Amino acid sequence: MIKVHGLRKKFKDLIVLDGIDIEVKQGETVAIIGPSGSGKSTLLRCLNLLEKPDEGHIQIGDIMLNAKKYSRKEANELRRQTAMVFQHYNLFKNKTALQNIIEPLLVSKKMKYDEAKKVGEALIEQVGLAHKADNYPITLSGGQQQRIGIARALAVQSHAILLDEPTSSLDPELVGEVLQVIKQIAEKQTTMIIVTHEMDFAREVADKVIFMADGHIVEQGTPTAVLDHPQNPRTKRFLQQSI
Ligand code: ADP
Ligand code: MG
Repeated sequence: MIKVHGLRKKFKDLIVLDGIDIEVKQGETVAIIGPSGSGKSTLLRCLNLLEKPDEGHIQIGDIMLNAKKYSRKEANELRRQTAMVFQHYNLFKNKTALQNIIEPLLVSKKMKYDEAKKVGEALIEQVGLAHKADNYPITLSGGQQQRIGIARALAVQSHAILLDEPTSSLDPELVGEVLQVIKQIAEKQTTMIIVTHEMDFAREVADKVIFMADGHIVEQGTPTAVLDHPQNPRTKRFLQQSI
C-alpha cells in the first residue's frame, strides 16, 4: 500500500532524512514518534511532495515514483494518493465548515454541487459537527476546526491520510475529541500515518509504531514492542522523557 525505500532529503548541508524505509499495509495505522527536529514532518511532506525528496522510491497505491527522476504527471498522481492533516488546521476562513469539506470535491474532483454537499454532510456528521455546518472557522473551537480538517481530508477519498501532530496546537481539554475522531477513522480501516506525541493514543490505535531520531528510523514494531519494551537506548531515553 505504502512503500518507501531509501528516502533521503537534505536542506543545504543538513541531512534530514538519511535513508528511510517504511511499509504500511492497506488499512494499517502507523504512528511516528520521535524528538523535535528528527525529520518526522519532512518525511510526511516528502510523501506527498510538499517537499522534494533527493533520493529514494515512494510507492503509494498503484503509483510508484523515483525521487531522482519524475514527471509532473507522476508527481500529481502521487499527490492525489494522500490527504494531509496539519498541526494548524489550514481551513479557509471565508468558507463555512461544510464548504471547507466539500471544496476539494468541487475543485479537484469536479463533483456536482449537490453530490458534493451530500458527501460533505455525511462526513460532517461523522466528525460530530453536523450542527456547525454553516459556521465559519472563527466561530469554532480549535478541536472543532481540526475535526473539520479531518473531514476534509476524508472527503478526497485518497489511499491514505497523513496527519502531522494533529493535536499539538490544541488546548489539552480539546485533544480528546480530536483523537476520538481519528480513532474512529482508524477503526474503519483507513490507511493512516500519524505523527504524534500522544503515546497512549499510539498504543491504543496504532498497528505499528516507528521511532525516528536524526533522520533515521531507530526502532519500529508493535506498540507494545516499541513503547513498552524498547530495545534501543535512544528509544528508551526518549520514552522516559515523554512520560
Ligand atoms: P520534526 O517534524 O521531527 O520536528 P522536521 O522534519 O520539521 O522535524 O525538521 C527536521 C530538520 O529539518 C530540522 O532540523 C529542521 O530545522 C529542518 N528543516 C525543516 N524544514 C526545513 C526547511 N524548509 N529548510 C531548512 N531546514 C528545514
Ligand atoms: Mg514536525
